[in-house]
Amino acid sequence: MFISTMEILIDAQNKGYAVPAFNIHNLETAMAVAETAEELKSPVILAATPGTFTFNGRKNIHAIVETIAGTTSVPLTLHLDHHTSFEDIKTSVDLGCRSVMIDASHYSFEENIKIVKEVVSYTHKVGGTVEAELGVLGGIEDDLEVNEDRAKYTDPDAAKEFAERTGIDSLAIAIGTAHGLYKSEPKLDYERLKQIKELVSIPLVLHGASGIPNENIKRTIELGICKVNIATELKISFSNALRQHLINHPSENDPRKYFLSAKEAVKKIVKEKILLCNSNNRA
Ligand SMILES: [Zn+2]
Repeated sequence: MFISTMEILIDAQNKGYAVPAFNIHNLETAMAVAETAEELKSPVILAATPGTFTFNGRKNIHAIVETIAGTTSVPLTLHLDHHTSFEDIKTSVDLGCRSVMIDASHYSFEENIKIVKEVVSYTHKVGGTVEAELGVLGGIEDDLEVNEDRAKYTDPDAAKEFAERTGIDSLAIAIGTAHGLYKSEPKLDYERLKQIKELVSIPLVLHGASGIPNENIKRTIELGICKVNIATELKISFSNALRQHLINHPSENDPRKYFLSAKEAVKKIVKEKILLCNSNNRA
């Protein structure tokens, strides 16, 4: 059974930590996250973008995460990351998913509200959680690239109105982070985060956390971030370890061996991020 992320996000909000959301891409990365979460007794969100569902098959990802969730003692659930299609969301919700992100942040404010409200209405009927985004992050997410200078920071007053009118459960905000790798040192707008936190009571979400120095992430959590998304750093650690293993063992042809070092490398990052979010021993 997939759980809604509401309970774990509210616990994080009340106790001042963040729940990490890790983007998974296959069985190996899903297991790496689950095993580490179990070891550290951390609630954890396994996130998958539309691209990941397309690559693996939506039902296959559902089956993998649902099976893992059923055998793990910590709260662990599947989250639809950056979904834009209402049809895809419906399919996953009908298959049992209870944690959804609808990203209509590239539309106008009113259009964003209209699209998000539809998803909220559908998902809330079955007790699911909806995250939406206001403002636009720079960088690359799935197949979508946003030039850094087209990125838009979240306006605090608009965030309050957006949260109230849509009835969402959590809000992803743009305060200077970007998806993918940073070309220059990111500058986070803590003052803006403070203002949003004062006006918006629902849990706030930080996207684009890969490559942000630890002390900066910690500061955003102190200021009210309750969910931190990590994707790029996992992809890099998996690929680098796999590449190195194959270079060191050029005749290796057993996936059970060459995926092992890649999985271990992912586990190392997952552990670091759980400790950074301070979500260990919360489950
Ligand atoms: Zn994101």
